Amino acid sequence: MPISLANLFRAVVVCLLAVHVFYMYSIARAMHSDFGFDPGTSLLAAVFSLVMLVPLIWAVTLPEWPEVYARHVRARRWFRNGRCATCGYRHVTQHSVCSECGSAYVAPPPYVVSWQTVRMFAIVNLLAWALGSVAGEVWASDDERDFVREVGAHVQAGNDNNYSRSRRWPASSSTLVYDVDQQEFTATRTYQQ
Ligand SMILES: [Zn+2]
Repeated sequence: MPISLANLFRAVVVCLLAVHVFYMYSIARAMHSDFGFDPGTSLLAAVFSLVMLVPLIWAVTLPEWPEVYARHVRARRWFRNGRCATCGYRHVTQHSVCSECGSAYVAPPPYVVSWQTVRMFAIVNLLAWALGSVAGEVWASDDERDFVREVGAHVQAGNDNNYSRSRRWPASSSTLVYDVDQQEFTATRTYQQ
């Protein structure tokens, strides 16, 4: 199945929004001092990153920009210049049907934000939300697994002091800590002073 330019554009929009979700999820997941996967924390982080998509509602028409350009902006320019609004064929204006593509020679309708626009925006956002949240969880969990390995090496090397380091970007304002005496993994919250 060939991928249309419009769908390619939408895929790019999904990816950009997913990066936004990933960032928000990562920050929110590290707002708790939990170490390791915790369903409650992950749920909170997912809800937080969903809420943080709400301010982007201004971009509701964004996934439709290719269509807006093709069917409205370019179409109206073509029509003004006496060309077919659908294919751009240079018309003899007394004809009522385009001899190239068979479309009726009528002015293209103005663009309106329709129910389809809203639905497309919702689908794009939900996809981005799912992708970004899963990526955020995988990223954070992988970082914690790395940390456990580092602690293993630290202890193996005969060190008896605590071991700590920052979480991976973008949660790097949170610190992962291994307490040797308690034999306990903890973390500080993001932005905790
Ligand atoms: Zn045409």
